[in-house]
Amino acid sequence: MLILFDIDATLIKTSGLGIAAMGRAGRELFGDSFNERTVDYAGRLDPLIIGDLLRAHALPETPDNHANFRAGYRKHLETLLSEPGKGVTCPGVPALLDRLFSRAGTTVGLLTGNFPETGAVKLRACGIDPERFHLSAWGDESPHHPPARDHLPPVAMKRYKQRHGRDVNPSHVTIIGDTPHDIRCARAHACRSLGVATGMFSVTDLENAGADLALPDLSDTDRVEKWLVSA
Ligand SMILES: [Mg+2]
Repeated sequence: MLILFDIDATLIKTSGLGIAAMGRAGRELFGDSFNERTVDYAGRLDPLIIGDLLRAHALPETPDNHANFRAGYRKHLETLLSEPGKGVTCPGVPALLDRLFSRAGTTVGLLTGNFPETGAVKLRACGIDPERFHLSAWGDESPHHPPARDHLPPVAMKRYKQRHGRDVNPSHVTIIGDTPHDIRCARAHACRSLGVATGMFSVTDLENAGADLALPDLSDTDRVEKWLVSA
């Protein structure tokens, strides 16, 4: 059994500082008129977000621009999140993680649009050790061009096979996330999905996207664990 968590607005909230760090990186590299509020963020891959930001400012999508933006984003994110109290876990998350990590036969991973280095910065700022997860599929790990979140479940399932020496049946994989993007990437691979309305989408939005279960948050540890392990 493989359980995969999205990061932003599913495990943690970081006071919008991820977006703020993108803005600081953009202004440092490209000038004061750079405006990070020109693109969609929720549930999307960081490489796609950076590409959208570059295009929105008529900047070329060169490898250098992507790499410099990524490095600047990391630097500003670390600075912004070094202030105590800016990152919090979503309701029920610490208890649920403790419960799942203590279960034999349950593999717990991350499936996220974040880059590995910035995803780790965010988790640590919220008191979650990223090394605790058994495997991860990060936002820069789509093997296809253009990249998409829908490409990430096979990456996580491949890592499961590398770890355990056997395939995991998609019906034994559950993806937990706060946006229709999370739900769609699960459905694209016949995985189960749990929508959690701790971001900008409601329970109804997530149900309409096809979530197998949608909840206001993850605070009912017993119910969530029971549903997750029923796969
Ligand atoms: Mg999210």
